[in-house]
Amino acid sequence: MARYTGAVCRLCRREGTKLFLKGTKCTSDRCPIEKRNFPPGQHGKDRKAKIVGYGLQLHEKQKAKRMYFTLEGQFREYYEKANRASGVTGELLIQQLERRLDNVAFRLGFAIARRQARQLVRHGHVTVNGRKVNIPSYQVNVGDEIAVRESAKKFQIVEQGAQFTQQNPLPVWLEMNFENLSGRVLSLPKRADVNLPINEQLIVELYSK
Ligand code: SF4
Repeated sequence: MARYTGAVCRLCRREGTKLFLKGTKCTSDRCPIEKRNFPPGQHGKDRKAKIVGYGLQLHEKQKAKRMYFTLEGQFREYYEKANRASGVTGELLIQQLERRLDNVAFRLGFAIARRQARQLVRHGHVTVNGRKVNIPSYQVNVGDEIAVRESAKKFQIVEQGAQFTQQNPLPVWLEMNFENLSGRVLSLPKRADVNLPINEQLIVELYSK
């Protein structure tokens, strides 16, 4: 499966905002956005034009796509599905992104960044209801039990993730047992439960043109 393999901090600089792709580095003064908040590249500093209209909508979509590490085709599918369902399209779009197994693994503290959580899932270290699932885009459901497999519990990224998450509040739609590194989906995430700087309405406007 195709995926972005370049330097992730460039993505934040491209969007001009923190996308929180590197765990603890993102909240430290080592974050490049703190020092060089302008687009990457030789002429990055010269790009000062204010973004409006279509550009703004595009930016918002890119931001969301990059935060959740999805590619255009899959992101568009999420939109189409949200658009067909009854409810607020933007909120349903965010809900699907949040329900991805790699995101849930990150939220539960199996890793300190979504990218690491995605790798953990891809390599078969995460189970859903006791069965190995290695599909990062797998959509979790209410009542699902998500756990780290026994063989991965001592991984450094898992231990770091658990420490990091214990110091930060868990989303209200999830519960976690840090003793056995297993969590449960209590409800489907609502927009208010997702504290990310995304204006989903702009994304809906972009796709509905
Ligand atoms: Fe983005 Fe985190 Fe890199 Fe800062 S450290 S630029 S927030 S990925």
